[in-house]
Amino acid sequence: MTPQDIDFDLSEEERSIRDLVHKFAEQVMRPAGQALDRRSAEEVIAHDSILWDVHKKWNDLGVHMFAADPAAFTPAQLARLTCIVTEELGWGDAGLAISLGASEFPAMLAGTTQNPEVMAAFPVSKIGCWAITEPDHGSDSLDMGADTKRPALQKPNCVARRDGDFYVISGQKAAWVSNGTIADTAALYCAVDNGDGVNGWGVLLVDLNARGVTRGRPLEKLGQRALPQGEVFFDDARVPLTQLVIPPEMYPMGIELTLCSANGFMGATFVGCARAAYEMALEYAKQRVQGGKTIIEHQAVKMKLFEMFRKVEAARALNRRVVLYNTIHNPFLGAPEGSFPAVQFAIASKVTSTQTSFDVASDALQIFGGNGLSYEYPIEKILRDARASMIEDGTNEVLALHAAERL
Ligand SMILES: Cc1cc2nc3c(=O)[nH]c(=O)nc-3n(C[C@H](O)[C@H](O)[C@H](O)COP(=O)(O)OP(=O)(O)OC[C@H]3O[C@@H](n4cnc5c(N)ncnc54)[C@H](O)[C@@H]3O)c2cc1C
Repeated sequence: MTPQDIDFDLSEEERSIRDLVHKFAEQVMRPAGQALDRRSAEEVIAHDSILWDVHKKWNDLGVHMFAADPAAFTPAQLARLTCIVTEELGWGDAGLAISLGASEFPAMLAGTTQNPEVMAAFPVSKIGCWAITEPDHGSDSLDMGADTKRPALQKPNCVARRDGDFYVISGQKAAWVSNGTIADTAALYCAVDNGDGVNGWGVLLVDLNARGVTRGRPLEKLGQRALPQGEVFFDDARVPLTQLVIPPEMYPMGIELTLCSANGFMGATFVGCARAAYEMALEYAKQRVQGGKTIIEHQAVKMKLFEMFRKVEAARALNRRVVLYNTIHNPFLGAPEGSFPAVQFAIASKVTSTQTSFDVASDALQIFGGNGLSYEYPIEKILRDARASMIEDGTNEVLALHAAERL
């Protein structure tokens, strides 16, 4: 029985979507992720890079996570599909899964406006990004509080100033923006000045091919190397008022909703990453012979594999439960008035899955012995990918502190 068989109650449609995405993860993402991991950050985004192929093939598949048509599914179906699809992508390659997920973010926000012009300008087929962190405001930028004295408001690195029917954006976002170097569109979370100084942040949808937008150098880093990252600079870039999708007075609610969906997405992605490491270790342990028998027959190895299996199953169970609750209680998906997702549970899932993926990948590497350290085997890469996730979209410590405020 495989970990997928436990989902015995999937509908025919859900099963076929899962199988389709698994095939994409296995045949497209795995080989591409491993190849891109060995390239320089410049080569990852070069015109002949396999990265473009991954985005194109994913787009052609027509399966979307954040930007799925809510009318096509009940919220419960949408929640389950989001978890299943995202786990398969994380299983294929964590860095590419983040690149594909972040890409849908502007389209998802455009959909919440129900404004046909905005929706047409920010379709899911364009590569998007979530630009929130700044050189001087990493953890600060994830603060959900409405306190106007918080540091990200006092000295922002990026400001959108109102000028008649436009916002004029100046400044920059951090080198950590996923897809920052390749995106056509951005969901830009930044300080807003409506003529009376900066007293809040808002969210604007921005065409990154417009005048006044430039990119930084592609970032070299330890893990998730297939995920292109880099700064985005704004020099008086003009954006129509209609593209301010979350105004400052709604920002505290907007950032909380964002953290609810981003943490649920991270939770599912790194269940997949952990499952990949577990499966590779299990297969290796059934083949590698030491002491006259396969190493799985040694009790210490067998025990380790059970612990890995148990942790993956626990992380998945938490993720499914949290995403179900938060999808059903999402005001943009037809939730009854007064209901709202629970960010502390979403954060619990992100922290659990990312810590699990790191622990399971580390145990997997141990089971591979010396081979685990070698570039010839995929485990050292998965360990590096998992390590990055504990900082990605908010460090686990800072997220935990925000969640603890709600206990
Ligand atoms: C793989 C990856 C993908 C990412 N993708 C994106 C993206 O798509 N878009 C984007 O905008 N950003 C993205 N980021 C940036 C990410 O959100 C930040 O790196 C993260 O929020 C931490 O910010 P920082 O790196 O500036 O660290 P800092 O905020 O400088 O934190 C440094 C250390 O201090 C601790 N610390 C900071 N503040 C506090 C506090 N108040 N209390 C206790 N401890 C604290 C932190 O836990 C950490 O250990 C990504 C990062 C990574 C690694």
